[in-house]
Amino acid sequence: MRELILVRYGEIGLKGDNRPAFEGRLVQNLRDALAHLPGIRVFRSHGRIFIDPAGETAAALERLRRVFGVVAFHPAVETPLELDAMAEAAVRLVAEERRPVRFKVEARRANKAFPLNSMELNRELGARLLRQVEGLTVDLHQPEIRVRLEIREKHAYVYVRDVPGPGGLPVGVSSPALLLLSGGIDSPVAGWYMMKRGVPLRAIHFHSPPFTSPRSLQKVQDLSDVLALWGGRLPLYVVPFTRTQTAIRKHVPAELSMTVMRRMMYRIADRLARRDGLAALVTGESVGQVASQTIESLAAINPVTDLPVLRPLVGLDKAEIIQKAEEIGTYAISIRPYEDCCTLFVPEHPATHPRLDEVEAAEAALPVEELVEEAVAGTELEEHHAQPVMVAPS
Ligand code: ATP
Ligand code: MG
Repeated sequence: MRELILVRYGEIGLKGDNRPAFEGRLVQNLRDALAHLPGIRVFRSHGRIFIDPAGETAAALERLRRVFGVVAFHPAVETPLELDAMAEAAVRLVAEERRPVRFKVEARRANKAFPLNSMELNRELGARLLRQVEGLTVDLHQPEIRVRLEIREKHAYVYVRDVPGPGGLPVGVSSPALLLLSGGIDSPVAGWYMMKRGVPLRAIHFHSPPFTSPRSLQKVQDLSDVLALWGGRLPLYVVPFTRTQTAIRKHVPAELSMTVMRRMMYRIADRLARRDGLAALVTGESVGQVASQTIESLAAINPVTDLPVLRPLVGLDKAEIIQKAEEIGTYAISIRPYEDCCTLFVPEHPATHPRLDEVEAAEAALPVEELVEEAVAGTELEEHHAQPVMVAPS
């Protein structure tokens, strides 16, 4: 008998050609996530993904709960195809729950050559559990624990625990995108939702020293580290934005400055995305949240790029976004007080219904192309990894 972790992943969208790509990517991502724990193996067998945690189940699960594509992990005992061994494993797992419990056995017989069918297995295992563990009662309708038994080709697997995974798709099954990452609450959550859909991300941050402090950049770097825990890595473009912002202040009427600033961000992001093969932009915009996020504002900002602009928070309330930020570990960083480049330059009365022709006219005095080129030329790319890079065990 040995301890293994069974990986359960979503079946939807796994038809035909997608399936091998999904599974191959998931196995790779699980291996990458566990690369810092030597001796752990991830392998496939008969259409199942297994992890041999080499005795490090708790440490492995702590890291694994952030791997997208997984619905649940089941710490399991692998036994020979013998009833006594299965019962012994079940007794041990149930006894570990250490309290009187209402339970139910759910057997599945994938290997039809095994002499007992699932009904008979349920009954037999249930009876043995009742005899051997004190305080148990059977409850078929609202059990506190479900003792699962899977009979497969060479072995049986017994488990009681469900450790939830984050769901979604494995990062890497989609083309990559570029996340506009401020130090605020919304954009890290937007990035998380896209990674959850399998999209590998790079992030881009616009900063304006000396108006913005090194600590505001540090915030974004810390957010990148947290997102890298979920996505495996997060390369970050740091764009010098001071010249653009001062030029906007000088040449653009105050009420349109937010719209124009956003357009400049989109333009620079678009340029870098095209240069480096990123297929979409991602932002934390949510309809109606602030002046620059009315539908009219989005319409006046959007035309500077032909790339799809993904806005996963578009229909969420602030309270929902905050709750998600707390869950994924970005909230405490996002609420640190340091100003970012936008809050500093916010006009008193930003236009809530800017018209595209007015915005274009307001931009006429701005050396747009020169500013974009200069910003792109000054951009630095830094790596953020989930953990120090190590050689993965073969
Ligand atoms: P957030 O909480 O993400 O900062 P917000 O509610 O403050 O969002 P805005 O300031 O209007 O909204 O920004 C809208 C979006 O523009 C952000 O979600 C982010 O994607 C992008 N953005 C804003 N400022 C920056 C910046 N300095 N660098 C990179 N992207 C930015
Ligand atoms: Mg912001």
